[in-house]
Amino acid sequence: MDFELNSEQKMWQHTVHEFVANEVQPMAHEVDETAEFNWNAFRKMGAIGLLALNLPEEAGGPGVDALSAAIGIEELGWGCGSTALAIAAHNGLGLTPLIVYGSEELKKTWLPKVISGQGRLASLALTEPGAGSDLHGIMTRAEKSGNEWIISGAKAWTTNASIAEYIITFVRTSTDEGRHSFSMILVPTSTPGLRIGPPEKKMGLRGSPTSGVTYEDVRVPLGNLVGEEGLGMSQTLRTLDGGRISIGALSVGLAQAAFEVAVEYAMNRKTFGIPIAQHQAIQWMVADAATEISAARHLIYRAAWLKQQGRSYTLEASQGKLFATEMAERVCRNAIQILGGYGYSREYPVERMYRDARLMTIGEGTSEVQRMVIARHVLR
Ligand SMILES: Cc1cc2nc3c(=O)[nH]c(=O)nc-3n(C[C@H](O)[C@H](O)[C@H](O)COP(=O)(O)OP(=O)(O)OC[C@H]3O[C@@H](n4cnc5c(N)ncnc54)[C@H](O)[C@@H]3O)c2cc1C
Repeated sequence: MDFELNSEQKMWQHTVHEFVANEVQPMAHEVDETAEFNWNAFRKMGAIGLLALNLPEEAGGPGVDALSAAIGIEELGWGCGSTALAIAAHNGLGLTPLIVYGSEELKKTWLPKVISGQGRLASLALTEPGAGSDLHGIMTRAEKSGNEWIISGAKAWTTNASIAEYIITFVRTSTDEGRHSFSMILVPTSTPGLRIGPPEKKMGLRGSPTSGVTYEDVRVPLGNLVGEEGLGMSQTLRTLDGGRISIGALSVGLAQAAFEVAVEYAMNRKTFGIPIAQHQAIQWMVADAATEISAARHLIYRAAWLKQQGRSYTLEASQGKLFATEMAERVCRNAIQILGGYGYSREYPVERMYRDARLMTIGEGTSEVQRMVIARHVLR
């Protein structure tokens, strides 16, 4: 076993960290306060490769491995939860189905628009007002008419919808029950009949727009089918496996950032004549955080490593996501505790990190869903 990053991975980590420290982290407070996506940083991300993390070099991507892709999202999470979620959803949800399952024609048309940073982002709409964890309950339908699909229905909670070039939409293409009734269809956001609602008013991640989307007889060419008709469910589940590594990595980054703020504060703040870092109660919170961040990072890196090897990683991605997201919430919670009253104030970033971390146990499969996946693997 080798726990050392190789020289390419280290160089990538350094490059992304420097970029995030200069372009992303300094804007995180403003992004949260104004609820505006950080377009300036986004415009510069294409050149580094952050907008095509899963695209091979020969297809125009940065050619980084799956571990480096996770590290990229971890670094973004360290800098700004909102920006990190938008970029994680762009890569993991909006782009991956196109890269893995899309036709050459679709890739040729859409990849250049979404990976350079000069256009807009990519988005994936699975969830509906009536169905999230149980995707078999989705009602959005697509029917063939001549050489077009006609799509009708409503999606909820679509990250990036309002800032996307296209939304890959999970639809029913058959009236039959069962897992072969679903497909993925790429819908350009400029298509008539597609309406993107205003950004949801959320607890955190306010600079990552999330919207409801309605489809009223939306017509797109038959060629906009992503992958195979009837295989949308398995394509989605495989896409989510990768997305879970991403959300876990983002959570490690958020926790790391809150931890760094808390440690610095604990070394400087004095009570009863000594820095609070010398009180055992504070030391235990710091020790627990250091241990749990390290454990989560190892779980996520291992899932990414398995993905890179082309091996099954569904179990490990769920374990990593479950542990890392719940860990991030604990670490951010205790960072607020260490900062006392200041921790609860918007003057310090830990309250924002806590709000941002809260989503991670919900999006891309709740903690309960991760436990279902893990139990299914263990008990089969
Ligand atoms: C900020 C944000 C961004 C999002 N971005 C996207 C996006 O880009 N694309 C997209 O498609 N969706 C997105 N979502 C939706 C997200 O994936 C869903 O909210 C999530 O999957 C849960 O679905 P739900 O909200 O319908 O909850 P439900 O499925 O209704 O679940 C409600 C509760 O019941 C629990 N539960 C459900 N079934 C079981 C069970 N069998 N056993 C035990 N407990 C169970 C859940 O864990 C949860 O606690 C986003 C959501 C948010 C808040």
